[in-house]
Amino acid sequence: MFICLDLGGTHLRGACFSQGKLGPVLLTEHGQSLSGLKQALLEMIETLARGKEIKALGIASAGPFLRKARVFLTPPNLPYLQGFAVGKFLAEHFHFPLLLENDAQAAALGEVHFGCLKGAQNALVLTLGTGLGSGIVLKGKLFRANLETGPELGHLFWGGLDRCGCGKRGCIETLLQARALLNLASKEGLNLAQVKDLTPLLEKKEPRAWRVMKDYGQTLGTFLAEMVQLFGFEDIALSGGISYLGKYFLPFVQETLENRLKSRVELKPRRLVLSENPEQSGLWGMAYLLTKTFNPEE
Ligand SMILES: [Zn+2]
Repeated sequence: MFICLDLGGTHLRGACFSQGKLGPVLLTEHGQSLSGLKQALLEMIETLARGKEIKALGIASAGPFLRKARVFLTPPNLPYLQGFAVGKFLAEHFHFPLLLENDAQAAALGEVHFGCLKGAQNALVLTLGTGLGSGIVLKGKLFRANLETGPELGHLFWGGLDRCGCGKRGCIETLLQARALLNLASKEGLNLAQVKDLTPLLEKKEPRAWRVMKDYGQTLGTFLAEMVQLFGFEDIALSGGISYLGKYFLPFVQETLENRLKSRVELKPRRLVLSENPEQSGLWGMAYLLTKTFNPEE
C-alpha cells in the first residue's frame, strides 16, 4: 500500500493506492503557511496510514525543489515553503520512504499511464491553475534533462509586463494562469471574484465572457504550437483546476493551433484533450512512480 499526496496552491489531496486502485481521495486546505502545511501533512498521512502497512509515500508538489534531497527552493506559488526540508520533517514522524515529484510532471505520468493520454509516447500535459505547470513525456519517459524537477515551460518569456510569481515579468504563466482569466474578464468590464463565476455567464451566452474564452484559447493555442514545433508532441492534455472551462475554450485553442501549424501539417498533434479527472492526475502519477520504484515487478 502506498500513500499518494498532491500539494497544490490551496489544497492538499491524498489517497491510498494499492493493486491498481486509488482509494477515496481526502481533501483539506493547508492554510497557505508553513505551519499550516506541516499540520495538514501530518494529519492527512496519519489518517491515510491508520491500520495499514504503508510501503512508501509520494508527494506531487509545485516546484522548484531539490527532488533527491527533498528540499524546496523558491516555489513561486508556495513562497512560504522556501528552504523547507520536507523529507527531513516527515522522517521525524514516519518511517516510510518519501518520493517527491513536480506536480505537473506527476500529472503527465498520470495521464499517460492511467488517464486521457493512455499509451502516449511523446506528450505534453499542461496544468492550468494557480500557476501554469508543464509535464513532458518523450519516447515514453519523463523528460527532465539536467533539471531535477523538470521543464518550467510556464516561465518562458512571452511578452508583456505582468509580474510573475517567479519574480520575472512577462512569463507565459501570467497569461494562462487562473488570475489571467480574471484579468481578461476585468478588461471586458466583468469583475469576477473567481474563475468559476465565468461558467454561468458562458452558459447564458454572455458575449464578453465568450470573448475571454476566445482570447485565452488563442494565447494557449499559439503557445502550444510553439511547444509542438520545439518538441514534436503527438499528444497534448490539459489538466489542473481551470481545465473544466476547457469545454468552452478548447475550440479556440484547436483552431489557433491548426492555423499556426497549417504550413507544417505533419506536426499537427493527434490528440488535444482535456483530463477526465484533473483533480486526480497528480495522484495517479505518484501511484505510477511509487509502483515503478518500490514494486518494479508489477
Ligand atoms: Zn515566471
